[in-house]
Amino acid sequence: MEEKIDLKNMTHEGLVAYLAELGQPAFRARQLIKWIYQQRVTDFAAMTNVSKALRDELSVRCRISTLTPATVQCSHDGTRKYLFQLEDDATIEAVRIPMEKEKATLCISTQAGCAMGCVFCMTATTGLVRNLSVAEIVNQVCAALADGPVGNIVLMGMGEPLHNLDNVIDALNIIFLDEGLGYGARRVTLSTCGLVPEILALKDRIKVNLAVSLNAADDQVRSRLMPINKRYPLAELIPACAEFARATKQRVTFEYILIKGVNDSLAMAKKLVKLLHPVRCKVNLIAFNEHQGADFEPPDEATIRAFQEYLLERGLVATLRAGKGCDIDAACGQLKGRMDKVAQCAAE
Ligand code: SF4
Repeated sequence: MEEKIDLKNMTHEGLVAYLAELGQPAFRARQLIKWIYQQRVTDFAAMTNVSKALRDELSVRCRISTLTPATVQCSHDGTRKYLFQLEDDATIEAVRIPMEKEKATLCISTQAGCAMGCVFCMTATTGLVRNLSVAEIVNQVCAALADGPVGNIVLMGMGEPLHNLDNVIDALNIIFLDEGLGYGARRVTLSTCGLVPEILALKDRIKVNLAVSLNAADDQVRSRLMPINKRYPLAELIPACAEFARATKQRVTFEYILIKGVNDSLAMAKKLVKLLHPVRCKVNLIAFNEHQGADFEPPDEATIRAFQEYLLERGLVATLRAGKGCDIDAACGQLKGRMDKVAQCAAE
């Protein structure tokens, strides 16, 4: 028997085309999407406004996948890390980060492992296992929503989203669709290590906030931290970001992980001010999160403050992000997708 088609791999457009093959009108696609994402139905029999004949046909040909966390770890600060085991046994993680005034932010993965090799990142140590399907990306959001409301979504978990661009764009289309997960584009941020051609392609394909993991203001230090910089150095990356900001009329966020003795000097802050001058942007500073096997340390509090002050005094919007979830290896760069060392949440 042929393998069943997972409807969660389909965008609205894709589902319209598929239903047309079955002789069904286009409006059925929105009906089905509502059942799948708003009612969270996984059994076609429950879709009561769809004819019995179509429900029967769909249950023979199609399926609606879900993801259930294999484990959930809880941090003392309220951060929750979900580990999912995929159908081929690959593992990925998503992290729910509590926010002070708003609903939680959810950080999701777009690949199992990652090919980009950033030296400060735990995910990089496994290399790329594979791209996630559209269904595997949206199902992380569905699983987290089943666990409580989510205000913002960031594509900053395992993997480089722009290295899996087609599936990421289809997943975003479902996340944005009113009948789908219904998120406004302003609530979703895609984070990249700096794939220049894909940044330029992204602006023409979908509207989403862009964050770029920068981490240094000169090529020498950045190439040491992020091998991608050898392929797309700052002289190419920064103009691409400026172009993205211009074309989308959005501010680009630059993520900057502060590492003791590597990129935390005032000389580097000075270079950063000059480098980012042409871009409508803000800078998100994060102190390095220590993890097993890492050769780096975070700077002390005074160095971090001095770096931030330097940027602020020169007119750069620079926020300092608290490293949440460090005690459960759920903070930036700590996701590894392994089931060892698991301290699961107490039953609630
Ligand atoms: S920081 Fe992001 S792009 Fe770099 S290796 Fe880790 S997951 Fe990949």
